[in-house]
Amino acid sequence: MIGKTLKELGAALAARQVSSVELTQLYLDRIARLNPEINAFITVDAEKSLAQAGAADARLAAGDAGPLTGIPIAQKDIFCAQGWRTTCGSKMLDNFVSPYDATVIGKFDAAGAVNLGKTNMDEFAMGSSNETSYFGAVKNPWDVKRVPGGSSGGSAAAVAALMAPAATGTDTGGSIRQPAALCNLTGLKPTYGVVSRWGMIAFASSLDQAGPMARSAEDCALMLNVMAGFDDKDSTSLERATEDYTRDLEKPLAGLKIGLPKEFYGEGCDAGVMTAVQEAIAEYRKLGAETIEVSLPNMQHGVAAYYVIAPAEASSNLSRFDGVRYGYRAADYGDLDDMYRKSRAQGFGAEVKRRILIGTYVLSHGYYDAYYLQAQRIRRLIANDFVEAFKRCDVIMGPTSPCTAFGLGEKSADPVQMYLSDIYTIAVNLAGLPGMSIPCGFAGGLPVGLQLIGDYFAEARLLNAAHRYQQATGWHLRKPGE
Ligand code: GLN
Repeated sequence: MIGKTLKELGAALAARQVSSVELTQLYLDRIARLNPEINAFITVDAEKSLAQAGAADARLAAGDAGPLTGIPIAQKDIFCAQGWRTTCGSKMLDNFVSPYDATVIGKFDAAGAVNLGKTNMDEFAMGSSNETSYFGAVKNPWDVKRVPGGSSGGSAAAVAALMAPAATGTDTGGSIRQPAALCNLTGLKPTYGVVSRWGMIAFASSLDQAGPMARSAEDCALMLNVMAGFDDKDSTSLERATEDYTRDLEKPLAGLKIGLPKEFYGEGCDAGVMTAVQEAIAEYRKLGAETIEVSLPNMQHGVAAYYVIAPAEASSNLSRFDGVRYGYRAADYGDLDDMYRKSRAQGFGAEVKRRILIGTYVLSHGYYDAYYLQAQRIRRLIANDFVEAFKRCDVIMGPTSPCTAFGLGEKSADPVQMYLSDIYTIAVNLAGLPGMSIPCGFAGGLPVGLQLIGDYFAEARLLNAAHRYQQATGWHLRKPGE
């Protein structure tokens, strides 16, 4: 059972080849064996998971099962889950047990999926390597001396090491797509507003979006069917008719117009990554797609604009962690101000503090116009570039990450080098568009991701393009050590 896709596990459960309790136990055993080295999970609670599995078996027996009923799924520790410790990778929330469910968690519960545990992540989702976690770095199952990417690195490593059949992630600037690329997974960041952010601990609210990380595009479609939907508890949730994201999976790709932005194919990308990406594009041509050159002239300013907007929003969102109502409080303090100061100084890690300082600075009087407003203007220009590009093509393709998995510690001393990990993914968040990463080959024995970017609400089309490619090639089926 280990290593099967969600689709295959669903069939095995339906055919009574395995029960949800047995399946969940298999994965729990594997977590117990591998997690001490990989460190992909922060919290595992076998009792809770098995109780959910038992309930799922009852539903399966009663003929009341959906596609994910009984399947264990790992949840990024950014989602509040009732009765579960929910840390967001931070000392600040080390002792926080959520009293309520995030909408995403509630939807998986309603679908009968089993919560397999909470996955490690960069602190408050700030990072590209999972090294900023208070709970220690996560190791990449393809090479344990390397990072799995971030911030959803625990989710990526859990799925890549076959400790979970699939996991959730969140993507503010690339945190689903980049770790998916570095761990040979398929990951999808939906259009902003498609998945509810209620109960998902906020980093940069105008950019944050949750999505699936799995072994195939088909599995991502099954998960998105559960995750997506209007939620009146999130004011940015979009009121749209429900979609079946599997509906177009099999559509032939003949006539698909692929836009290749010249900015993605210039300097700055490792040669091995570029070769794998070019071969993937050639495969798409074989499948009947046409390619045209497009341009995203303002994309070069994306990282700079993001590192004004995201910290600005983070500095505001993180002000709630003050040691008063929940979370970490310093043991010794004088007056109230001292309590705030010490609790925040001791509860947050270095990267989080750096972002709070930057964010507070760019929002302060006198600098607001020069930095924050300017960044918002760039954001609009980037979104307009995509509007122009999508007049000429259906899907944009290029690399997900400029490099394969880098060494643990290699970039952690240089924040700007780390920030550049997201050079190809950040513009997609700034524009609010859907983006995917799919496995497309290897460079130096390490996985390479191909990024697919769609127009607003084009998730089904992206999943179709990814699925047909996965049927024609086998990259996504490769597992570490095989
Ligand atoms: N790596 C980026 C950052 O550090 C993006 C993180 C994310 O998408 N959550 O902000």
